[in-house]
Amino acid sequence: MQLSSKFYRGDKIVIASHNEGKINEFKTLLADYNFQIVTSNDVGIKDVKETGKSFQENSLIKVKSIPDKYIAISDDSGLSVNSLGGKPGIYSSRFQKNCGGWFEAMERIYSDVKRKKSKDFSAKFTCCLSIKFSKDLIFSYLGEVKGKIVWPPKGKNGFGYDPFFIPEGYEKTFAEMPHSDKIFIDHRSIALKKLIKLHLSDS
Ligand code: IMP
Repeated sequence: MQLSSKFYRGDKIVIASHNEGKINEFKTLLADYNFQIVTSNDVGIKDVKETGKSFQENSLIKVKSIPDKYIAISDDSGLSVNSLGGKPGIYSSRFQKNCGGWFEAMERIYSDVKRKKSKDFSAKFTCCLSIKFSKDLIFSYLGEVKGKIVWPPKGKNGFGYDPFFIPEGYEKTFAEMPHSDKIFIDHRSIALKKLIKLHLSDS
């Protein structure tokens, strides 16, 4: 059992996820550290129910689903649209399923905003990462990227809501950027930088 809140290059780390898009982002972001990366599937853990009321609560549920003998990292993330009161937010994945696909979900969000008087298309991606070293040694970090949603969706890279989100300071959607660039400016990498800075031991 891990008694310290530090991890080391070469450690085995479980990414508590079944989402291929996210898992691949983690593998690329962590490539320099030579971790042995495995996923929930590899340690026999099925998808857990996201019953939390915030990104942090859901990210804690996911990280706690991994047996305590492993160092585990989880992520809960989503797109929040300001004029829709932060929706779909923690329901981003479920909203897509209910709409019947990514295109349909983006279309629905965009038309809901268009119906509003304000026509405020500002939005943000949020990610809460949690790392668990042992049962009682768990830490969470938030990352956010502000921007706006656009119609029609553009670009073929990335996953999820990437084709209809343009981050502040850019003119392209996340899906129009090379994926290798997007993942180093997104909400997940912002949270991961905080986590690495505080917990990776370079000694
Ligand atoms: P969950 O964290 O597994 O509940 O899923 C979060 C959902 O938010 C994903 O399925 C995507 O729909 C969306 N999402 C989170 N991060 C991103 C991203 O970087 N790009 C596009 N969509 C994202």
